[in-house]
Amino acid sequence: FAVIHCGVDRFSVINHSLGNRVGDLLLIEVANLLRRATRPTDMVARLGGDEFGVLLEDIRDASAPVRVVKRMQEKFVLPFQLHEHEVFSSLSAGMAVSGDQYTEADVMLRDANMAMRRAKAQGGGGYVLFDRGMHEEALRRLDLELDLRRALEKEQFEAYYQPIVRVKDGRLTGFEALVRWNHPERGLISPAEFIPLAEENGLIVHIGRWMLRAACQQMRQWQLAFPRRPALTVSVNLSARQLLHPEVLAEIRRTLRETGLSPRHLKLEITESAMMENAERAIELLEALKRTRLKLMLDDFGTGYSSLSYLHRLPIDALKVDRSFVMHMHERAEDCSFVETIVDLAHKLGREVVCEGVELPEQAALLRSLGVEYAQGFLYSRPVTAAQAEMLIIE
Ligand code: C2E
Ligand code: CA
Ligand code: CA
Ligand code: CA
Repeated sequence: FAVIHCGVDRFSVINHSLGNRVGDLLLIEVANLLRRATRPTDMVARLGGDEFGVLLEDIRDASAPVRVVKRMQEKFVLPFQLHEHEVFSSLSAGMAVSGDQYTEADVMLRDANMAMRRAKAQGGGGYVLFDRGMHEEALRRLDLELDLRRALEKEQFEAYYQPIVRVKDGRLTGFEALVRWNHPERGLISPAEFIPLAEENGLIVHIGRWMLRAACQQMRQWQLAFPRRPALTVSVNLSARQLLHPEVLAEIRRTLRETGLSPRHLKLEITESAMMENAERAIELLEALKRTRLKLMLDDFGTGYSSLSYLHRLPIDALKVDRSFVMHMHERAEDCSFVETIVDLAHKLGREVVCEGVELPEQAALLRSLGVEYAQGFLYSRPVTAAQAEMLIIE
């Protein structure tokens, strides 16, 4: 038999009156599409979020799951109708096919899941068959997880800082704190590699706590050392798991008190998708956070599933437009109009805009003409160590 793990890629909905429940309706529709693309004897189950598992029994040969996946993906090629909405999306799929190496279904599901992540990483809309190479990678991942568990006590994490500048004149306004892992054998490991893992096993709560403290301490130290730059801020990323942690509010307050940093100098970045995992609770928490007078940023804006109708309800100060939109804006008119629309909307709602991933002067010029307030990207500086960041403050 074979296991297929599939997930919905970024989708867009064409409609003017987006209700909050579009996401739910969409998932029901996806489940229906999947059922129509499989045989009645195949099992389709929702695995949580926007991910589904399909179990195919009695397959004739190893290419059978590929045919099923292609059929499923075809259903996603055209926009499909969801009540009065028109939805465009694509499906990524990973597959594991049973042979003698499998004895347990949950292992197959894990492997199919990993293959799906690979398919997503390749840009979405495709499929990947789990193979031996990926099996080795799975083992490495297990090793990594064990190392990750010990990394905190061994003090292997380090906060890097990436400047955020005012678009108008390129002046430094603050930094985003980004975690780095100094692995004893593998060197500096990027968060893209271990944050998803830490999200899965809950370690992110500890890492995030550590980062918050490190960043607040560092900013307080800079304020004392550079009294002529009193307005600098530090932005810290808050993951979905942290957001839902019952102690998060008390912890943030305690960290500010203990480090002596005023909340006005702290910004918390929360991704659109983390927010939408439990929107009602998130809004409640954000409101409580706002009352402590720190600033809130909606991170990776444009990549999540949130409907724009939520935006005015979120007590956020600024939107961070994701790098994937900024990257091509100088060469793709659609991306440029996307950013323009977001900026207009944000400004109408009284929010500011930060664009991340600015690499080229042409992009910066466009942002300036659109009235974007802040920018961050390799054009200004890569994320650097605290000591290097300090040199940028002195400049
Ligand atoms: P993010 O929050 O979207 O952070 C911006 C990422 O874009 C950073 O990657 C940064 O190095 C990269 N970046 C900035 N400017 C440019 C540019 O001009 N070009 C390109 N190609 N990349 C640019 P990084 O540091 O690898 O972090 C990746 C992600 O890991 C972050 O994305 C964030 O989601 C997560 N992350 C990093 N540190 C933390 C943390 O302390 N806590 C949590 N929860 N997540 C973190
Ligand atoms: Ca961020
Ligand atoms: Ca971001
Ligand atoms: Ca991003």
